Amino acid sequence: MSLAQRRILIIGGGFSGMAAAIELRKLGAEVDLIEIDPGWRSYGAGISLGGATLRAMRTLGILEAFLREGNAADGVKICLPHGPQVAELPTPRLAGPDVPGGGAILRPVLARILAEATRAAGTNVMLGCTFTSITQDADGVDVSFTDGQRRRYDLVIGADGLYSKTREALYPDAPKPRYSGQACWRAVLPRPPEVTTATMWMGRVKPGVNPVSKTHMYLFVTEHRPSNEHVDPARFPTLLRELLADFPAPVLQQIRAQINEDSQIVFRPLEALLMPRPWSKGRVVLIGDTVHATTPHLASGACIGIEDAIVLAEEIGRAGAAPAALQAFEVRRWERCRMVVENSLRLGEIEMAGGDKEEHGRIMRDSLMALAQPI
Ligand SMILES: Cc1cc2nc3c(=O)[nH]c(=O)nc-3n(C[C@H](O)[C@H](O)[C@H](O)COP(=O)(O)OP(=O)(O)OC[C@H]3O[C@@H](n4cnc5c(N)ncnc54)[C@H](O)[C@@H]3O)c2cc1C
Repeated sequence: MSLAQRRILIIGGGFSGMAAAIELRKLGAEVDLIEIDPGWRSYGAGISLGGATLRAMRTLGILEAFLREGNAADGVKICLPHGPQVAELPTPRLAGPDVPGGGAILRPVLARILAEATRAAGTNVMLGCTFTSITQDADGVDVSFTDGQRRRYDLVIGADGLYSKTREALYPDAPKPRYSGQACWRAVLPRPPEVTTATMWMGRVKPGVNPVSKTHMYLFVTEHRPSNEHVDPARFPTLLRELLADFPAPVLQQIRAQINEDSQIVFRPLEALLMPRPWSKGRVVLIGDTVHATTPHLASGACIGIEDAIVLAEEIGRAGAAPAALQAFEVRRWERCRMVVENSLRLGEIEMAGGDKEEHGRIMRDSLMALAQPI
C-alpha cells in the first residue's frame, strides 16, 4: 500500500512540521503531530517572506489568511546610512500576478494561521508530548512517547528544528549547529507611514524594517559579534539604540526614538547547520531546520522548510513506497537548500569582513533568482 494511505508521525509543530501535516492530510494519510511545547508558542518578532514563500503558502491554502493578517509589498529598498535610496531589489510576483512579490507577518500570527490549518486538515495534534524511543524494521517504525503510549507508523518525519533530537537519534555523528559570528536583534514597533516595503540600510551593522500589518513593522539589525556570549536582557533597549546611532536617516532615527524599556526585543546569535546527505534512514526522514538551518540573510529559512513539506508530500503521493519517495524528495531539495544555507553564510562573512559590496550584491541577486525557480 502507498505511504499516502498510511500512518505518519511528525515530530515538531514548527512551520515545516505544520506544513507537512497539511499536505499529507490532503493525500489522505492518518497524521499524528507531536509538539514538545504544551502552549505551541512561537517566539520572535516578525518574519520576512519572499515570493517563493508566498507561492508555497498558496499551495498550503493559507495565502488568503496571510494577505488578510500580514502585509504584502513589492521590492526591497537599499539605502545609505543618511537616508537616500541607492537601489531596489526586484521581487518577482511568484504567487500570482495580483499578489505582491514579498511581505512580512508577526511570527505568532503566522504560527496561529498554520496551527488552525493543521487542525482543520484533521491532524491529530498532541501538545506537550515527545518521543522517548524510535526503533524501526523493514515494515514500520515503533515510537514510544512521553505520555506512556507506544504506536507503530509507516513513516516518521523529524521536523524538530536546529537542536533536533530526531536527528540525534538517527545520526548521532551529524554536524552540530555552528555559530556564524553574527547576531540579530528584532523588535516590533509602530510603522511610520513612509515604511511601505522591506527597507535596509548599508553600514557597519545592517538595520532593516519590514511592515507586518497596516499599523506595525518589525525592525531587525544584524551585527558582528566575534564571541557568542550571554547578553543581559535588561541592556537590550540601550544596546539596540546604540547600534542605530550611526544612521542619521530620519526614518531610522524616528524608529530608534521609539525603542524603550517596554519594547519587546528579541536577541538571537545566528547559527547555521547543513546536514550532509542522506536526510533519511529507512522510514524516518528529516526536514526543515533539522537538516538545513540558515542564517536569515536571504530571509528564506521558513520558505525552504515549508517547500520541503510540499515536495515530500508530492513524492509520497507519486512514488508511494518509503525509500523511493524519500530519495526523490532529497534529490529535489538538496541543491536549493544547500544554496540558501551556504550563500547566506557567505553574505554574513562579507558583512563581517567589510568585504566586496559587488560580490554581496551579486550573491543576493543570484540567490533570489534561483529561489524564483519552480520547486
Ligand atoms: C534571527 C532569525 C531570523 C529569521 N528570519 C527569517 C525570515 O525573515 N524569513 C524566513 O523565511 N526565515 C527566517 N528565519 C528562519 C526560520 O525562522 C526557520 O528556518 C524556521 O522557523 C524553521 O522552521 P522549522 O519548523 O523547520 O523549525 P522550528 O521553527 O525550530 O520548529 C521546530 C518545532 O519542533 C518543536 N520541538 C523541538 N524539539 C522537539 C521534540 N523533541 N519533540 C517534539 N517537538 C519538538 C519546537 O518546539 C518547534 O515547535 C530566521 C531565523 C532566525 C534565527
